[in-house]
Amino acid sequence: MKYDFDYFCSQLDEFENKLSLGKTIMKNDIYCIKIGNGETPVLLTAAYHGLEYLTAYALIGFLKKYMTLKEYHDKISLYAVPMVNPDGIDIAINGINPKKLMHRILVKNLGIIDYTKLWQSNAFGVDINHNFDAEWNSLGKEPSYTKYGGEYPCSEIETNIIVKLMEKIKPELFLAFHSQGKEIYYDFNGMENKSAEAAAERIAEKCGYTVAKPTGTAAFGGAKDFFIKKYHKKAFTVELGEGKNPLSDFQLYDMTRDTETICLAAIDEI
Ligand SMILES: [Zn+2]
Repeated sequence: MKYDFDYFCSQLDEFENKLSLGKTIMKNDIYCIKIGNGETPVLLTAAYHGLEYLTAYALIGFLKKYMTLKEYHDKISLYAVPMVNPDGIDIAINGINPKKLMHRILVKNLGIIDYTKLWQSNAFGVDINHNFDAEWNSLGKEPSYTKYGGEYPCSEIETNIIVKLMEKIKPELFLAFHSQGKEIYYDFNGMENKSAEAAAERIAEKCGYTVAKPTGTAAFGGAKDFFIKKYHKKAFTVELGEGKNPLSDFQLYDMTRDTETICLAAIDEI
């Protein structure tokens, strides 16, 4: 089983209301699915990092179940971007394709040959979840497979697409799924919603996750950080699964179940 972009697109067939928010530099669409037409907008996102592709499928698994939970649909307008970084996931799964110009540039600039089991960034070598305008720091001088924040905040297509979607729908709740660690993060520099910590504790308790405060490089420049800074509403980063990325697809069943529990518990906390 290859969890690459072609497989991802095949998983979207059953969703009626989906659209592309734009194309990446490698011409992959960043898709958004909408379910329900309620007054309260909610935004769910996943797969910011190349090695974390299973989070896209855990979120899609939840969306398939959520389609049947009609009682939510007239209260909530649910928007989901299950794969924020298709270019990075392509590199992490399929490696470098010498026929692709961007890939040849990466090889030339970074001198890395085998990118599989290593790649977290987008095809420019920018780490999307360090590129948001929230205490941004470039974290290094040049593109890399991980943790390079870019030339300036919001320099990347993927980052802009999420920021614009936030501006358009103004979510009451924002979730970003990553792997791994079975942890939930809720804070950003003391700017978080005052009820966010208690809500995170209640959500975590339902699935045996731990509430944690990220430190070091994980503590800024992320999508959740930007959302908290700009909108002061509840936002959570969820680290699904456990072990070392890329996680074994044996974990996907549990990751999907935890995504369901966490999304529904978080919606109930709005
Ligand atoms: Zn991540």
